Amino acid sequence: MTLEPTRAAGLARLEDFVPQAGAYARLRNYDLPGHPHVSGLSPWIRHRLVTEDEVVRAVLARHAPSAVEKFLQEVFWRTYWKGWLEMRPSVWLHYRAEVRRGLDRVQSEAGLRADWEAACRGETGIDGFDHWARELAETGYLHNHARMWFASIWCFTLRLPWALGADFFLRHLIDGDPASNTLGWRWVAGIQTPGKTYVARASNIAQYTEFRFRPAGLASHAAPLEAPPNPAPGPAPEGDSVTPGLRTGLILHEDDLSPGFVLDRAPAPAAIAVVPGAGDRSPLAVSQNVLAFTEGAIADTLARLGGAAAVSRPDDLADWAREHGLAQVVSPWAPVGPARDRLEAARAAGLPLRMVLRASDAAAWPHATKGFFKFKDRIPKLVDRLQDAASA
Ligand SMILES: Cc1cc2nc3c(=O)[nH]c(=O)nc-3n(C[C@H](O)[C@H](O)[C@H](O)COP(=O)(O)OP(=O)(O)OC[C@H]3O[C@@H](n4cnc5c(N)ncnc54)[C@H](O)[C@@H]3O)c2cc1C
Repeated sequence: MTLEPTRAAGLARLEDFVPQAGAYARLRNYDLPGHPHVSGLSPWIRHRLVTEDEVVRAVLARHAPSAVEKFLQEVFWRTYWKGWLEMRPSVWLHYRAEVRRGLDRVQSEAGLRADWEAACRGETGIDGFDHWARELAETGYLHNHARMWFASIWCFTLRLPWALGADFFLRHLIDGDPASNTLGWRWVAGIQTPGKTYVARASNIAQYTEFRFRPAGLASHAAPLEAPPNPAPGPAPEGDSVTPGLRTGLILHEDDLSPGFVLDRAPAPAAIAVVPGAGDRSPLAVSQNVLAFTEGAIADTLARLGGAAAVSRPDDLADWAREHGLAQVVSPWAPVGPARDRLEAARAAGLPLRMVLRASDAAAWPHATKGFFKFKDRIPKLVDRLQDAASA
């Protein structure tokens, strides 16, 4: 499966999927070759080559909201996870520390190292699991149900450290995303919803893979893994304001490659800088699938900007801003993750950074204070807001 890292390819996939969105609720759980019953849009949405807002509007242009309720809810899971993590950034830091701790352990514990390597290579002998490990490494994608089964088997049957599994995903998933991935793994492990784990059952795997896989010996009980309690939510971000008329630079990063809403406030940037991000998703080497897609997505974005300004990839963003005489530097809001870490470090070193928050994120994220089921009640209002904004 070669995925084209362009906005045009993402829009074409969206157009193909829209007619099927009505059948999504009934068929989405089937993990079948070619993944015919899901959209496959996540590589484009994750990098915002195509935005969540565009996906919601395209689906509602063709279907009544009641006919696509489940699909819209899934799109809003991404929004919810991002908002949840924005208000609890320490959970990302805890995850990064757990990855380092896990990697230290595999250096010193030979048995753990062998088990971890076998799991990553798809050589455990567990039917299904080995296929998904190889499918992920080869294609950069896994169906949602396969992600859940894989993570559950990793944590509870193989009893490997959960953070190393999340890291394996982040190294290989083209859509690898700090919020959806970290919190998805925590959810399976019983850390996110305290006390509630996800247990992969052989019968469920057989049913939803149409009997391609019938694993034996899966753990039947899954006690929640130990972790600190969820922190209380901090304030939701509000975004920085942009001052008109200043000499302004633009920063692009992998988290939002549709910077039109930023350029509406700060047109004609004097210089553009690209922040590396995908390579920082893991302390280990990130796969070529991921790096190639992200690089291609950035190239596509720069091409869409039409050579608006000189482009650089500076090691030191604060120096770059000074060299170009920039009074402010704007960028789409970088949610918690590697690009944000780099931007905040550069801000601390003097970069006059203004991260602009999308109106839809500003409207949705503050509601991610509790569980998804509370957030879900807000979805109709958030969708109405999107539709009103489009027709204004
Ligand atoms: C352990 C685990 C790890 C995950 N890691 C990631 C990750 O790193 N990056 C990532 O983008 N998603 C992740 N997900 C969520 C989900 O599996 C993928 O977003 C989805 O499978 C992408 O395929 P699709 O575009 O065909 O989805 P579809 O089923 O067609 O859904 C449409 C869109 O809705 C959103 N969506 C659907 N399901 C979820 C979900 N459970 N959580 C959040 N958003 C969702 C995505 O934007 C997706 O593109 C993870 C889930 C689990 C259980």
